[in-house]
Amino acid sequence: MESTATLNRSKSDALYETAKTYFPGGVNSPVRAFKSVDGSPIFMHKGDGCHVWDEDGNKYIDFCCSWGPLILGHNHPKVYEKVVAALQNGSSFGTPTVLENELAELILSRNPFIDKIRFTSSGTEAVMSALRLARGFTGKKKVLKFEGCYHGHVDSMLVKAGSGLVTFGTSTSAGVPEEYAAETLVVPLNDLDALKACFEEYSHELACAIIEPIPANNGLLLQETSFLQELRELCTANGVLLFFDEVISGFRVGFNGASELLGITPDIITYGKIIGGGLPVGAYGARAEIMACVSPDGPVYQAGTLSGNPVAMAAGVAQLTECAKPGFYEDQLERTTYFVDRVNNHAKEKGYDFELVTVGSIFWLSFDGKKRIRKADQIDPKMDGFRKLFNELISRGVYIGPSGYEVGFISQAHTKEHLDTAAKAMCEALDAVFG
Ligand SMILES: *Cc1c(COP(=O)(O)O)cnc(C)c1O
Repeated sequence: MESTATLNRSKSDALYETAKTYFPGGVNSPVRAFKSVDGSPIFMHKGDGCHVWDEDGNKYIDFCCSWGPLILGHNHPKVYEKVVAALQNGSSFGTPTVLENELAELILSRNPFIDKIRFTSSGTEAVMSALRLARGFTGKKKVLKFEGCYHGHVDSMLVKAGSGLVTFGTSTSAGVPEEYAAETLVVPLNDLDALKACFEEYSHELACAIIEPIPANNGLLLQETSFLQELRELCTANGVLLFFDEVISGFRVGFNGASELLGITPDIITYGKIIGGGLPVGAYGARAEIMACVSPDGPVYQAGTLSGNPVAMAAGVAQLTECAKPGFYEDQLERTTYFVDRVNNHAKEKGYDFELVTVGSIFWLSFDGKKRIRKADQIDPKMDGFRKLFNELISRGVYIGPSGYEVGFISQAHTKEHLDTAAKAMCEALDAVFG
């Protein structure tokens, strides 16, 4: 079926023209610029439940969910009320507030992996601080990362592999000196040989191995659990800290994230996104012995003017209180499976080279059919299929992140009725792309 609906996006287009005079690329974070889907960004005006409305009044079912934080959907009444109540007492004090204790208690009383936590204002900041902590605790300099994992825009994480099995990183951003990049070792995901080779040669220099246990920022590269278990064992045997970056998977695939889902205990964990209920919060945590190194208890310095901000803490408390209710994640999984099965059955019946890859309430649009992709370099970089599908979805009132490397998120507000509508639109869009 051909798409006939063309949306009026004149206000968004005009706002974008103005924004380009203010911001590099017209945006305050690059993926928002629609570079990879040909077109100009849609300026959103409001959100409610699973829907968003743009400045031209077009309504969409939203699977971007602010790139993950909004697991309850937009404008959830409990989050709204708690945020407003906090705001009425003032927006920031630069002193401790009871809301920090409340959020910490909610998390730590349920989390078997960390004894103490420190709140920051973003995921990037949490990763940056936790890397410093890993180095401070171990007294070692190098860190190991995996090709295709994203850890925010931290200097030492903006690196890619050179050529060879185990390589020193080369910088992927101007402004990151090669000397910094060289302190990061890079190996492919799900590759045991490369991992073992790296540990054999460099473990005495390695402070930590940082990984997204469920890599979801460059496609959804589900790892074999045995690979992650092996990584755990290698770290333990060699005095290297295992660092799970759970900024996307934390509170998403289960309250205690991928660590709980996979049954693997890391040494350091970072959180972000969902933890702040839609406001800017990140966090890092570890067992007491490691956290004792953080200032003011210990010598690893880290601070933040707005860290633990009461309004942001309030949003986090309200959201995580809902997430902690019995059955929350089972229900998320049930509705996600309902949606994913519908789309995948259609693609299979029609013989399309397409699959929604899924875990928890995350899905990724894979144009490599049933091939199980576990490494970054297995993704076809052309993205022609994605570009077409994205625009077909927009014209049918379904909003997803404007990049084929990004995943989609299902919130508590996506009911089966909404998911029926979205699955129908997705199937029609696939027919338009592959037909
Ligand atoms: C989003 C993300 C980050 C960066 O968090 P920001 O809040 O955008 O700085 C880091 N690591 C992972 C795994 C993420 O998904």
